[in-house]
Amino acid sequence: MLWSSKIPPHHGPLYTKQLTFHRYWGKRDPKLNLPTNSSISVTLSQSDLRTHTTAAASSTFPSADSLLLNSSPQDVTGARTQACFRELRALRAALEESDSSLPKLSQLPLRIVSENNFPTAAGLASSAAGFAALVRAIANLYELPSSPTDLSRIARQGSGSACRSLFGGYVAWQMGEKEDGSDSLAVQVAPASHWPTIRALILVVSAEKKGVSSTSGMQITVSTSSLFPHRAKVVVPKHMELMTKAILDKDFQTFAEVTMKDSNSFHSTCADTYPPIFYMNDVSKAAIRVVEGINAKAGKLVAAYTFDAGPNAVIYYEEENTAAVAGAVKSFLGGVDGWQSKDIPAGSPDGLDERAVQVLRDGVARVILTQVGDDPVRTQESLIGEDGEPVKK
Ligand code: ADP
Repeated sequence: MLWSSKIPPHHGPLYTKQLTFHRYWGKRDPKLNLPTNSSISVTLSQSDLRTHTTAAASSTFPSADSLLLNSSPQDVTGARTQACFRELRALRAALEESDSSLPKLSQLPLRIVSENNFPTAAGLASSAAGFAALVRAIANLYELPSSPTDLSRIARQGSGSACRSLFGGYVAWQMGEKEDGSDSLAVQVAPASHWPTIRALILVVSAEKKGVSSTSGMQITVSTSSLFPHRAKVVVPKHMELMTKAILDKDFQTFAEVTMKDSNSFHSTCADTYPPIFYMNDVSKAAIRVVEGINAKAGKLVAAYTFDAGPNAVIYYEEENTAAVAGAVKSFLGGVDGWQSKDIPAGSPDGLDERAVQVLRDGVARVILTQVGDDPVRTQESLIGEDGEPVKK
């Protein structure tokens, strides 16, 4: 009984990672990954960025559950992975109890095999895609009737933002209020088909592993930044409202402005952390200058930058502005890898800040061209063979 499910990672135009401590909800259990604010993200297309995970259960497997990620065995004893396994097993056990004809999969060891086709732990949200795919694949194996929102509560405990990756399109993570976290879950704001023309150009600055893990960085920000409570209480709720409406109205001007302002606000709280955390570097800042130049040339917002907990720039634009945005960047970055995947019409670097252009030329390793994508899909292609062994590539 093998199921595969493929899940794309996502990037948040509203940046808000999960937080493990909350000033207003101080009694909340840090293990539950409850955030201090709600957030919205865009799920990216699986044809470009993808996590593919297969889950299998068998009495012939070694007794401990295992996870093989990109051919290397991972530690699954951590509390977060264990929470996902435990909750999914409990749901399966309840099914087995209600129908004695069902095989007792909940009592068997699990073997999970997963592949990311993009860099892991490099600020491209592999943990979000990874835990969402893990939960979806096990839920499929167990034939759980749970909805994606039900599963989002479980995935959230693996990696906060994984809850949003169970949906395609535009997804909100509602922070919730309950102490047990049962109302901290993901809902779809709109499917990809509602606004299919959103494109993303990712400037991959460095594929090196991150210096500060998202989780530990967040904890220090929450406990030391005096800007942070203002962001959580005032800035993000306003941005959530504006962003939800912008998505429903397909209003790129507001989408772009809120995306950039929210990224700036988030990174300000990082700089206000003591000691400060800098996720953006000089290359990231040059990307901001170039996006500003592109917008100035267009006389309106045609491009929006956002940065996650790392230096890579994600630049959103609408398909009709591909030449003005991606074409302009290609005009000076055409030599790096990643452009081959899409047909990008030529743009011009005229009027862009020359120093910023040079910094990007020197510092961008590759680009990823992608777009808003659909829900996770179940695929027939299994990473575990009929013999129960990982498929050799
Ligand atoms: P990122 O910015 O890529 O999310 P993190 O350091 O926050 O970086 O998370 C990386 C971790 O997420 C990995 O070390 C691994 O534990 C987990 N992870 C990544 N991809 C997968 C996957 N496909 N399946 C299971 N876990 C994964």
